Amino acid sequence: MNAPAHDSGRLALMLNELRLPTIGRLWSEFAERSDKEGWPAARLLDALLEHELAEHAKRRIERHRTESHLDPTKTLATFDFSMVPMVSKAHITALATTGDSWLEKGATILLLGPPGTGKSHLGSAIGHALIDAGFRVLFTHTSELVQRLQAARQTLQLPSALAKLGFDLIILDDLSYAYKDQAETSMLFELIVERYERKNLLTTANQPFSGWNEVFPDPSMTIAAIDRLVHHSTIFELNVESYRRRKVSDKQSVRRQQLPSDNYEEGATTIDT
Ligand code: ADP
Ligand code: MG
Repeated sequence: MNAPAHDSGRLALMLNELRLPTIGRLWSEFAERSDKEGWPAARLLDALLEHELAEHAKRRIERHRTESHLDPTKTLATFDFSMVPMVSKAHITALATTGDSWLEKGATILLLGPPGTGKSHLGSAIGHALIDAGFRVLFTHTSELVQRLQAARQTLQLPSALAKLGFDLIILDDLSYAYKDQAETSMLFELIVERYERKNLLTTANQPFSGWNEVFPDPSMTIAAIDRLVHHSTIFELNVESYRRRKVSDKQSVRRQQLPSDNYEEGATTIDT
């Protein structure tokens, strides 16, 4: 029996119309192999659809990565956990890879500690891992987002600006940054209220809670904001010395060991980090 003739040009058009580019690219090679090896028709269909689905998932993750504004270099792989012994790698990995259990309840991760201790890096790393797990993440400097929302409010676009923040996780970097005026801090407060128990936040802050009175204009707002952030939260305190400073002093001590002692001049070493 002759195989029924088909029009490959028409097939390409139909696959294009249905937005199945991977099948469009692979079908002829797969069909040839299937004919040669006598695959049942269902096996051919299954193999082609599986490839299309895998590509689809990959493209979606790429889109999520682009929209996240995450620094591509700040991942779990590049984070040295030995620098922050109080942060358990197993705990972070669990939060980052099984996002669904905590992302469902509108939870918060708080990373607190002095500047340079890896809070933004760790927050980004969690973000990347959650994107790999299929979630949508946005990384933003808190003040930038607050200013954007404030501008939207002035043009009566706030509801639609907030609606665009449907990310599973928003990383508010540097929450305790100084704000220009009370309208901005109120906006920050509204954002926290808006996300509370619905969607998730990860915030980094250089100030411990005791210093947050300087962030918000009045103590009751500070308490209300902290209350919401702390409820359903996991708090990590990175109370270590700045990573950069430690790297510099490590390099200096290596150089000191390498230099003959009478050639070494205190303060003359230039270190390019
Ligand atoms: P913070 O947000 O706490 O001020 P950052 O996350 O910006 O600190 O860290 C400062 C720099 O040091 C960044 O380049 C970051 O990648 C690096 N860094 C900090 N901690 C670590 C770490 N534990 N492992 C690898 N790099 C780190
Ligand atoms: Mg930071």
